[in-house]
Amino acid sequence: MALQPICTALRIWGGHCLDAILPRHCVLCGLPCGSGNACGSCRADLPRADHACLSCALPILNAGDLLCGRCLRRAPPWERVVAPLLYAYPVDRLVCRFKFGRDFACGRLLALEMLDAVQLDAQPPPDIIAPVPLHRARHVSRTFNQADLLARLMGHALAIPVHSRLLRRKRRTRAQSGLDAASRKRNIRGAFQYVSGAHRLAAGAHVALVDDVMTTGATLAECAKTLRRAGVARVSVWVAARAPVP
Ligand SMILES: [Zn+2]
Ligand SMILES: [Zn+2]
Repeated sequence: MALQPICTALRIWGGHCLDAILPRHCVLCGLPCGSGNACGSCRADLPRADHACLSCALPILNAGDLLCGRCLRRAPPWERVVAPLLYAYPVDRLVCRFKFGRDFACGRLLALEMLDAVQLDAQPPPDIIAPVPLHRARHVSRTFNQADLLARLMGHALAIPVHSRLLRRKRRTRAQSGLDAASRKRNIRGAFQYVSGAHRLAAGAHVALVDDVMTTGATLAECAKTLRRAGVARVSVWVAARAPVP
């Protein structure tokens, strides 16, 4: 078994233990913040969409509308998106520190924001939570999958099972960053496989797909379509942040 994922797991576990002993400091301003990983004032200042489309989480201008024109014309392959934050400063820094710097306090703050938003949304709970998988080679080089960790924190808080191997990346794809929307779709098409032996899904199963950021939604759409083809009746998408239209 690779040593790096074990070290990462120990660091996450160690972080939880230290949090219980030492006073916590806000990951944004550095001031003591009691419980949680950010102070109330920094959390209140995080960028959010005042009114966002329920299907794609992009801001919509007309306060009476629930869906944007794009989603009305062509519904995405999921029922609902929960995305509490906008991918703008300082959320972009939090995601970067978590994903590339293994700053798990930032990850716990993002999961807490997602948890609050899911509980406020008051939709039927999913049967299973599944993270967007990384290709094995990228998982090994990064030592952990940020989506998997967010999914596990959410599953633990909501008492919902997490199945990290429900989906598998069949092939390694180019990084989506830097690609336009059409290239992202082409890059990710057919990249995922439903692993039938991982979990026997009940008829009418509802799966919540978890990732850190939704940019164009191409990766999440490919995962959702793969789940639908496998018989999943309802897919929800839970992400920490929504990027503006590229
Ligand atoms: Zn603060
Ligand atoms: Zn929309």
